[in-house]
Amino acid sequence: MATLEEYRSIVGDEVIAEIYRTARPLYGKRVLHINSTYYGGGVAEMLYSLVPLLNAAGVEADWRTLRGTPEFFAITKKFHNAIQGESIHMTDIKAELYVENNRDFAAYCKIDADCVMIHDPQPLPLIRFYRKSQPWLWRCHVDMSHPNEALWDFLKGFILAYDSIIVSDEQYVRKDLPVTYKIIEPAIDPLSSKNKDIPEDLIQRTLAKYGVPDDKPFITQISRFDKWKDPAGVIEVFKHVRKEVDCRLVLCGSMATDDPEGWDLFERTRLSAGSMIDNKEVILITAEDNILVNALQRMARVILQKSSREGFGLTVTEALWKAKPVVASNVGGIPRQIIDNSTGYLVEPGDTTGWSERICYLMKHERTARAFGEVGKEHVRKNYLITRHAIDDLRLFSKMLA
Ligand code: UDP
Repeated sequence: MATLEEYRSIVGDEVIAEIYRTARPLYGKRVLHINSTYYGGGVAEMLYSLVPLLNAAGVEADWRTLRGTPEFFAITKKFHNAIQGESIHMTDIKAELYVENNRDFAAYCKIDADCVMIHDPQPLPLIRFYRKSQPWLWRCHVDMSHPNEALWDFLKGFILAYDSIIVSDEQYVRKDLPVTYKIIEPAIDPLSSKNKDIPEDLIQRTLAKYGVPDDKPFITQISRFDKWKDPAGVIEVFKHVRKEVDCRLVLCGSMATDDPEGWDLFERTRLSAGSMIDNKEVILITAEDNILVNALQRMARVILQKSSREGFGLTVTEALWKAKPVVASNVGGIPRQIIDNSTGYLVEPGDTTGWSERICYLMKHERTARAFGEVGKEHVRKNYLITRHAIDDLRLFSKMLA
């Protein structure tokens, strides 16, 4: 675990001093984060770095993970999809199972923090099962601007009890929600095993261990096997790219404990890749391994993020931090990171030809690829490192506890 001082050489003295300064009114205060998976996906990724940083600054920060039955996670995954606009058949049984699982968890999770931050919809109903004697904040990491209305009405019943909601982007705010909100953009930890510099021989050994040959360049998308990440669409794009550039595609997606659809999507992706898997033109990996992600992002020629919806897209941030050219969908939080033709290329998700043209261009024009990478890395250094997120959180907690 990195110490605060270790970030100095990356972010500068002023940022470190600001963290200590903003933490000062919070000495001895206990803040509790609750989410629903301890690995897989961006939320766990951020909490893993953020919580120790808050502690290092003098706040007593804690992180707990909601446990749930497979049925519960099947329902919350449907909710997750419906918050992003997909249809859902809302039934009393779904609603009951969702609430009951939270009630059960509350029976063995004591909360005595001074401020509670709940992440995403899975633990949202918890607020109902405690005597509320502190501010509760709901941090929604997905785009909830166009949710399924029946679900939204149901969830709103819980959200209204919160003291503030936090979203990643101004455009995600719902106008029909009379609760104060705050924008906090996500961030990555430059010193985590996923993002720190790693030696060349470790990169080579790691890629060899996972069966990624080094005889040709490869492009990659690193994302959960989730329909919003469109792995099948990436395969389609690759079918075009391989006609022009001799390369491989590596799709890497670990399976989160709160995402029951992962294996199904993996299987469908495998089928659409067909014989390209046998001759290793397409390599699918399902391991949870930060060094692997780091190595793939460092060795890929171009990194893709072909999401049809994306709350923010930490994978894009991670790729930019490694000074890689990125081709990504013009959706959600991605355009904040990818400035078209400067830190990468933005493409509409359905424009398969546009995707393959941009990817091929970057594979053939190394100088442009390098220039994009350098600008991208600076963009992340200024805006999307975990130290900035820690300051945002500390300011928010101070305001809530003032
Ligand atoms: N991730 C990972 N291994 C994988 C796939 C994804 O560690 O095989 C990580 C990825 O590096 C990133 C996070 O999961 O840190 C995904 O965050 P993002 O915001 O891109 O998407 P989310 O999964 O939260 O929708």
